[in-house]
Amino acid sequence: MHAKFAPAETCDPAVHAPEYVRGIAPYVPGKPIADLAREFGLREADIVKLASNENPRGPGAAVRAAIERATDELSRYPDGNGFALKGALSARFGVPPESIVLGNGSNDILELVTQAFLTPGDEAVYSQHAFAVYPLATRARGATGVEIPADNYGHDLPGMRAAITRATRIVFVANPNNPTGTFIAPAALEAFIASVPPDVLVVLDEAYNEYLEPDHHGHSAQWVAQHPNLIVSRTFSKAYGLAALRIGYGIMHAHVADMLNRVRQPFNVNALAQAAALAALADTDYVDESRRLNREGIRELEAGLRALKLTSLPSHANFLLVRVPGADRVYERLLRAGVIVRPVANYGLPDWLRVTVGLPAENRRFLDALGHALAG
Ligand code: PMP
Repeated sequence: MHAKFAPAETCDPAVHAPEYVRGIAPYVPGKPIADLAREFGLREADIVKLASNENPRGPGAAVRAAIERATDELSRYPDGNGFALKGALSARFGVPPESIVLGNGSNDILELVTQAFLTPGDEAVYSQHAFAVYPLATRARGATGVEIPADNYGHDLPGMRAAITRATRIVFVANPNNPTGTFIAPAALEAFIASVPPDVLVVLDEAYNEYLEPDHHGHSAQWVAQHPNLIVSRTFSKAYGLAALRIGYGIMHAHVADMLNRVRQPFNVNALAQAAALAALADTDYVDESRRLNREGIRELEAGLRALKLTSLPSHANFLLVRVPGADRVYERLLRAGVIVRPVANYGLPDWLRVTVGLPAENRRFLDALGHALAG
């Protein structure tokens, strides 16, 4: 039987999206280079984009060659189980392949966890100023996001622990966090995970993990064996330089992976991405060099900001959060000068801008343009 037609004024099918979907404020990405070029009549080649925490180096030669080879098979579906890449990740981290889930970006892993585990009425806990996708993915399931005030811009772990109720299914922890760049030391993090009830999932989002100095690494992938409620999420978008291809992965107990696999698309990770990620994982020199360049870039940017009498938070990632008087106005002026950074008012940080570490010439161009923008 056909449903009755709605009266004309309620004919907009969008009204039938659930209230919790209609209430979502869409994610605002960094401004694309092509958009800015169109809006201000600039040449794309003259624009510097330091707005999305991408690796400014572009992929290495081995990765480009792997992508080229993979184009021979473009008419075939990708391996929906990611056999080769899971095998390589399994060997790298000493975890069984069944405990790895591949995602279309690590964003996909975050979505899959909420899809598999949240229903309306459930709660997910996360920190103020934490990555914007946690509230988005939580609300998309009709679940309730519980935001815990930040402690000096970082996660207040005791506060987050105290917020866990019988309705809590997921706790999100970003380490390092975006957009603040704050970091939780491994011992404190592991103690926190151990303190969470074993049936509450902890999603440890380590998108910027590869930028950490080796002595900061917590080897979190190995914690999954002791903590079956832990999901470690990583990406090839940042230090591996593959943001455009969309590939990330989660490491978790095989029973949890099984649930994510039930809700994921059968072919959620494309073949070029899988081939590129496999080559990128093997190219450890590329990641080491990216980390080194990033460290130098952070120092250069911090020195330049100090000279402009601006404060930034100590960063453990590939970006800096900078307190800028009149952040809105300065952002617009930077755009006109062909430099794209990221406003973070939507993170509850209206007086700050986030700038990604670029190549040395890009960092200098930013500092120069910022100096002029501040001078007005
Ligand atoms: N987590 C954090 C903390 C991020 O900053 C990002 C990217 N902005 C992501 C996850 C998602 O990145 P991707 O989907 O490209 O892996």
